Amino acid sequence: MSVATVDLYQELLQLPGLTVRRDEPMTRHTSFGIGGPADLFVIPEDAAALARLVAYLAGTEIEALYIGNGTNLLVKDGGIRGVVVRIAGALMGIEREGNSLMMSAGESLAAVCHYAAQQGLAGLEFAAGIPGTVGGAIVMNAGANGGEMAKVLDWVEMIDKTGQISCCSREELHFDYRQSQFQYGDSIITKAAVSLRPSAPSAVYQSLYEAVETRCRRQPVSEWSAGCIFKHPPGDYAGRLLEETDGKGMRVGGAMISRKHANFIVNTGNATAADVIELIRQVQDKVEAKFGVRLDTEICICGEDVQ
Ligand SMILES: Cc1cc2nc3c(=O)[nH]c(=O)nc-3n(C[C@H](O)[C@H](O)[C@H](O)COP(=O)(O)OP(=O)(O)OC[C@H]3O[C@@H](n4cnc5c(N)ncnc54)[C@H](O)[C@@H]3O)c2cc1C
Repeated sequence: MSVATVDLYQELLQLPGLTVRRDEPMTRHTSFGIGGPADLFVIPEDAAALARLVAYLAGTEIEALYIGNGTNLLVKDGGIRGVVVRIAGALMGIEREGNSLMMSAGESLAAVCHYAAQQGLAGLEFAAGIPGTVGGAIVMNAGANGGEMAKVLDWVEMIDKTGQISCCSREELHFDYRQSQFQYGDSIITKAAVSLRPSAPSAVYQSLYEAVETRCRRQPVSEWSAGCIFKHPPGDYAGRLLEETDGKGMRVGGAMISRKHANFIVNTGNATAADVIELIRQVQDKVEAKFGVRLDTEICICGEDVQ
């Protein structure tokens, strides 16, 4: 840890409403269960504590990575220099206004889906079983079964790293398949609204149940993974290409292509990020050799290699 980070640790301890840990293993904060340590790992207790932290960090040279539930992250084995800030659990709250839901960025999609069903609002069923937060789902434009966040979003509130708050309508934001401008920018998503349509609560609950049940049958949901590893190439499915190149069961160290779903890499217990990255490269090569298609990764890879 650099001298600047050690000093920052002492200074952050003085700010109210923050839990601050040093050399925090990212294995604890990613659904992959993989990742070296973050120099500093900060959990703000609420929106006010987050705002103080953002304002404080704006006056430093320290890099900060804001994460949700860590379900789409592969953190490299050398860990993350600077600060990782966990939004999940910090920015909480869901409110109904007409047929819209206002959601704070740290809410889980599961809680939002449940609330929508309770309120008799349909349109978010595609998100059932996606284990991330509202903020992470917007950044990744998460989706399934033909639905995606960009199709239901109304507006997004964000704060930039200088502490400036702004709000953009969906039309002003540039979303694409599993892609958004937030993946390349410096904004922290704090709140968003989705437009839904009225329906019977029982019908919405039934659709949620069916979506989760299908997911449990088809995906290795109880194993350590970060969801689908590759984006689907235009007009095809990454899983099909991987299956037809005998990808299932391929492994490097503790990382293995799931036998249940070929587009999932699972950590069988002791996988390193280097194992996962090497396995990704090997299957990309295999698929390219057979189909002439280079699969593009869907997960966020961050941090640095072991020095
Ligand atoms: C079993 C399983 C099944 C999955 N199924 C699906 C699926 O069907 N469809 C799908 O699209 N994905 C799926 N995923 C992947 C993942 O759950 C989604 O991408 C999810 O939306 C990520 O949310 P998160 O809160 O975990 O984000 P994280 O993984 O914590 O972060 C993802 C990215 O968003 C950034 N970020 C997070 N929150 C904020 C914020 N508030 N402000 C700014 N940046 C932020 C992070 O820096 C990072 O770049 C699955 C994952 C697993 C483990």
